[in-house]
Amino acid sequence: MSDPREWGFVADMNCSGSTTISDVWLWFKWLCFYPGDYLLYYLIHSRPEFAAFLEITCNNYGGVFSGIVVFVIIMAIRYPIDRYTNYHKKQITENQNVDCYYCKEKIKQNAKICFHCGHYQKKRIQWFNQYINHVATFISIFLLVVAYWQYNEAKKEREDAKKALEHA
Ligand SMILES: [Zn+2]
Repeated sequence: MSDPREWGFVADMNCSGSTTISDVWLWFKWLCFYPGDYLLYYLIHSRPEFAAFLEITCNNYGGVFSGIVVFVIIMAIRYPIDRYTNYHKKQITENQNVDCYYCKEKIKQNAKICFHCGHYQKKRIQWFNQYINHVATFISIFLLVVAYWQYNEAKKEREDAKKALEHA
């Protein structure tokens, strides 16, 4: 069976001869579905009976199944980050103080340097934690939209094929 997915990164994904905005969209899709598609690839090649049972073929790349897999992975990554940021938020609302990243002594939430140990507080890490959450939400929504769109496309194709068969 030929493998329709491009596993290595190619700038000109739609083979139009040049890199355009359509390729950027395809890059994003290529990246987002990578883990899900890779799991499908693994099932198809290493557990063919199981893949056959689930009716998984190469045609499922970038589809609903891949979308769900990636969605679960994102949720699994988000959970500890959420817990971490919630813990800090709770601390801030409770007593306007946070723990120092290094010595764990109480310091003012906006403090740049710890009053006890003199360490710089890494505000960037806190910012990054929140930022990554927005990215995760965005990718989750994107995956749902693409998966739904692909599902409709596949449905349309099946219907077209059925019509063609009836006409023949
Ligand atoms: Zn400290």
